[in-house]
Amino acid sequence: MGIPRFELLEPTSYEEASRLLASHETIPIAGGTAVVSMMRQRIFAPSHIVSLHRIPGLGEISKIEGGGLSIGAMTTLRAIETHPGVVRQYPLLAETLSRVANVRVRYSATLGGNLAHGDYRLDPPGALIALGASIRLGSVRGERTLPVEYFFKGFFETDKEEDEILLGIDLPAPVQAASSHYLKFTSHASVDWPCIGVAVFLRWDSGGRCEGGRVVLTAAAETPILLEGVDAVIQGKVITEAAARKVGDLAAQQLDPIEDASGSAWYKREIAPVLVRRALLEADRRRKQTE
Ligand SMILES: Cc1cc2nc3c(=O)[nH]c(=O)nc-3n(C[C@H](O)[C@H](O)[C@H](O)COP(=O)(O)OP(=O)(O)OC[C@H]3O[C@@H](n4cnc5c(N)ncnc54)[C@H](O)[C@@H]3O)c2cc1C
Repeated sequence: MGIPRFELLEPTSYEEASRLLASHETIPIAGGTAVVSMMRQRIFAPSHIVSLHRIPGLGEISKIEGGGLSIGAMTTLRAIETHPGVVRQYPLLAETLSRVANVRVRYSATLGGNLAHGDYRLDPPGALIALGASIRLGSVRGERTLPVEYFFKGFFETDKEEDEILLGIDLPAPVQAASSHYLKFTSHASVDWPCIGVAVFLRWDSGGRCEGGRVVLTAAAETPILLEGVDAVIQGKVITEAAARKVGDLAAQQLDPIEDASGSAWYKREIAPVLVRRALLEADRRRKQTE
């Protein structure tokens, strides 16, 4: 089935894009992997579409003050996944992106489009939250920044206003002694959406004791879940099987699972602690490998 007719608008600044979004029945388009499919299915049929392709600077990856990395919203998932600075300094993000859909989708899909889509099953928010990334949004009212964990508000609901454009993501300076793992558990094919994804990021001291970390679950509930109480279990300790099990128990306590084609609520509640434990132990194993 074809897509409904529309007029394409091509602003050259985010402020102009924001004005167009406010004045027409329209949506922005980036890589189009989600938009085109939803239009084909007649989920929506806007009279206008605002292309973000002519806005300068949105497809760039650059260093920021303090040693972090800024990734423009129009950067494709594949370009980020293979960027030498990301691979070297933020391996958790590179690993996560390598597990999104298939390489064909990743060559078109952008990071901004991925996050703005707001799907609870998205893989990248797990890594971004675990790494402490912030999201930059722009509109006629100016720019604002918020931690990625506050961007997701509910089922397909984000903090983005209708006339706001995602400008990019800022990653904090890389942590020297860190290890990580993204465990994507799929119930059908390996390239499928996650049943549950677990992103683990751990910081270490020179004696091999954990300084703290973040554990984030995606696809498990209506929004990504940043587990609370993880540091109380692992800080100042080596990661034992028992400690990993305790962090898994936190997942079972804090999860209000969403039921979908990949698993019932009961199944997700049962499997989440197991996946958290395995992901933590794998992140610990990776640390030992680099000793
Ligand atoms: C076959 C297939 C399998 C997939 N599997 C996975 C998977 O396993 N894991 C996963 O995480 N994702 C998966 N996806 C989703 C995919 O990651 C998203 O479709 C993609 O990232 C969206 O990016 P895009 O640039 O194509 O966005 P578009 O389709 O252009 O836009 C998506 C949404 O974001 C809005 N938007 C886009 N850019 C901006 C911006 N800068 N500012 C404001 N709003 C914006 C659009 O208006 C639209 O609502 C899959 C998609 C397909 C087609």
